[in-house]
Amino acid sequence: MVYSPNVRLIATFVDLSIETGQQMYDTIKLSRKKFDLVSRRHPWIFSGAIESDTSGLKEGEVVRVCDHRGLFFALGHFHASTIAVRILSFEDTEINAEFFRRRIEAAVVLRKKLGLFREDNQILRLVHGEGDGLPGLIVDYYAGVAIIQCHSIGMHQSVEWIVEGLKGALKEELTAVYEKSSGALPERVGAKDGYRYGTAACPHQAKEHGIQYAIDWVSGQKTGFFIDQRENRALLGKYARDKKVLNCFCYTGGFSLAAIQGGATEVVSLDSSRKAIELTEENVRLNGMESKHRSVVADAMEYMKELGDQYDIIILDPPAFAKHRNKRHQAVQGYKRLNLHAMRQIRSGGLIFTFSCSQVVDKTLFTNTIIAAAMESGRRVRILEQLHQPADHPIDAYHPEGEYLKGLVIEVSD
Ligand code: SAH
Repeated sequence: MVYSPNVRLIATFVDLSIETGQQMYDTIKLSRKKFDLVSRRHPWIFSGAIESDTSGLKEGEVVRVCDHRGLFFALGHFHASTIAVRILSFEDTEINAEFFRRRIEAAVVLRKKLGLFREDNQILRLVHGEGDGLPGLIVDYYAGVAIIQCHSIGMHQSVEWIVEGLKGALKEELTAVYEKSSGALPERVGAKDGYRYGTAACPHQAKEHGIQYAIDWVSGQKTGFFIDQRENRALLGKYARDKKVLNCFCYTGGFSLAAIQGGATEVVSLDSSRKAIELTEENVRLNGMESKHRSVVADAMEYMKELGDQYDIIILDPPAFAKHRNKRHQAVQGYKRLNLHAMRQIRSGGLIFTFSCSQVVDKTLFTNTIIAAAMESGRRVRILEQLHQPADHPIDAYHPEGEYLKGLVIEVSD
């Protein structure tokens, strides 16, 4: 347990902070029984671990979390829900503009270290919640425009500090900031989406690995683009030369464009949403790739039943089949059926790029599901690559829930 050796130190610090007149926060007290569990630096405190009465606390306020003896443990945003506190700091500090400036600066420094700010790559995740020490905050970046998505009331109420932090860290690399939190917060908060700094034409063009995309954060899904598949799209590009590719669940067409860039002879993009297909087609046009591309509005599961063995590569990147643990079994059945269809239909020697972004279906369960589908298909199936989310979606070691995207490249033969 990391906690006990520091108790004395922390206690001294607490006294000092009071003397120097630091901002006082409301306190919540953890129950003795749950403290061991909580003290493992996990960034969430569940309501069941709290002993004190929280009924007088305001949602979104910063609270001081103390152990059962009243000793300082952490600072975090309070929420009247199962996840009662999202921890911002295990040090006794002030949660203010300077705090956000430092955390955002560190997040930008990491992305620079990863080489993600380039002329040919202007799309990246700048802040990935717990992975960047800012639970409840997502910031995506599209060639000068930052899109903020707050998943906690505390973050939503800190938006001005977040904007200042972004301005300070990005300087002339930032032209506008848009907040899109309304869909991620409870309705009672009344969050309104809109520009918090500057403005930008939307859709707005930005490049990923040299491919141009028109990104619409106002009416698109999430912040407008699925950034988490960037490196997996690049990998597809390496396998795609002279291949015929089916991209199921294409949304804005990222995998399709990467395949054409990689030399695919023909790519078919499929999505059940007409709007998604329109976005894909616009991106195909932007890159002058029309001659290699065709699109279909259809249900992926139905479409694949009648496919025949015409494709060399099939991409399966469905939306999360399970958003909650109690839907996990159903989700597994869904992944199995979907992959079984693809395994049965794909040309011998062909590849399937298959993904799951359901956080409740972990890597092992997903792999086992694919193996179960393989057994049922009766074909030879080999796992060639094991895929995951990229480094600008870091996972805090104490917050394994931060890992959500997993994928496999499998080869199917007779
Ligand atoms: N692969 C995409 C992201 C996929 S998001 C990318 O790289 O950007 C999931 C997509 O699946 C959405 O566009 C949604 O419209 C689509 N979808 C959901 N259910 C579907 C179904 N049954 N058949 C086909 N597409 C579906």
